[in-house]
Amino acid sequence: MKAIQIHSTGGPEALQLVDLPIPRPEPGQVLIRIEATGVNFIEVYFRKGVYKASFPMIPGSEAAGTVEELGPGVNGFKDGDAVVSTSVIGSYAEYALVPAAQLVKVPEGLSLECAAAVMLQGMTAHYLVFSTYPLKKGETALVHAGAGGVGLLLTQMAVRLGARVITTVSTKAKAELSREAGASDVILYTERDFEAEVKRLTGGKGVDVVYDSVGKTTFDGSLNCLHPRGMMALFGASSGPVPPFDPSLLNSKGSLYLTRPTLWHYIATRAELEWRAGDVLGWAAKGELKIRTEHTYPLANAAQAQIDLEERKTAGKILLVP
Ligand code: NDP
Repeated sequence: MKAIQIHSTGGPEALQLVDLPIPRPEPGQVLIRIEATGVNFIEVYFRKGVYKASFPMIPGSEAAGTVEELGPGVNGFKDGDAVVSTSVIGSYAEYALVPAAQLVKVPEGLSLECAAAVMLQGMTAHYLVFSTYPLKKGETALVHAGAGGVGLLLTQMAVRLGARVITTVSTKAKAELSREAGASDVILYTERDFEAEVKRLTGGKGVDVVYDSVGKTTFDGSLNCLHPRGMMALFGASSGPVPPFDPSLLNSKGSLYLTRPTLWHYIATRAELEWRAGDVLGWAAKGELKIRTEHTYPLANAAQAQIDLEERKTAGKILLVP
């Protein structure tokens, strides 16, 4: 099979197209034939060595495809089932293994491409607005990178819950997309001080929650956008990791809450995975959640996909197609 492999940390050139044997499923695993692979920022962190990995590795954890072979002891799936997962063991490939406990069937009416495009970022948006800081009607959220993969989905879900969403984006074109997703106010944070704008837009009150995936360049300003006892949900580091931080700042800025959540802890049980995946895939199948995937690359062009993601050229989802 064709796959993308990394032998050591480095730039995009570290992503090499190789031929490898198709893996065989072990007990509890399912072999899937991949139709679409979701590209996520975390793969950039692994490639650069920000997150540790053992090499050689096939990057990627999100894909949709069809069941090819069941490992011993696997029930509930059969050959040819349309399936999707965010726990694929190396999804930048034509075939991959998935723990059956982390595999979900794609509902009728949803294409495999759409399933791969919405699963990881959709469940991330879901846990952030339903569990990390459960948003209530009438509350106000600040969402950074509002036209990104997570950003567009998070905005739609927050608006669905009756919240007001203020977003930040880097370009006018992205601002348009963010407004279409339901943002009431969009701030061009590359041109304006987003902290001052948020204060102005909330009449000096500040927001109830900040969902911050940008990290280094937005963290300090984000804390200043919160009203007392507000919640800072720092869930990414697209601009780089936040430097060491003095917790007493949470006190002086208004008894704030800070959390650094990750998806895996919010889908750790089968019940939680089925709840989030069921909502996200179900809403997408019914057209209630709009998925934007204008960036589709052949598997061999994985390096270009990551370059475009890192250079902020993309909006919405990026897919690789084997
Ligand atoms: P995005 O589509 O949001 O891409 C990243 C965006 O971040 C860019 O498009 C850009 O938007 C913005 N950005 C701001 N500064 C920079 C910078 N210096 N370099 C690059 N981008 C920058 O990616 P995803 O939707 O895939 O992921 C968003 C973030 O969420 C990532 O940090 C990812 O790691 C994290 N994440 C965390 C999860 C979790 O459970 N903790 C799960 C999934 C994702 P703009 O041009 O508008 O500034």
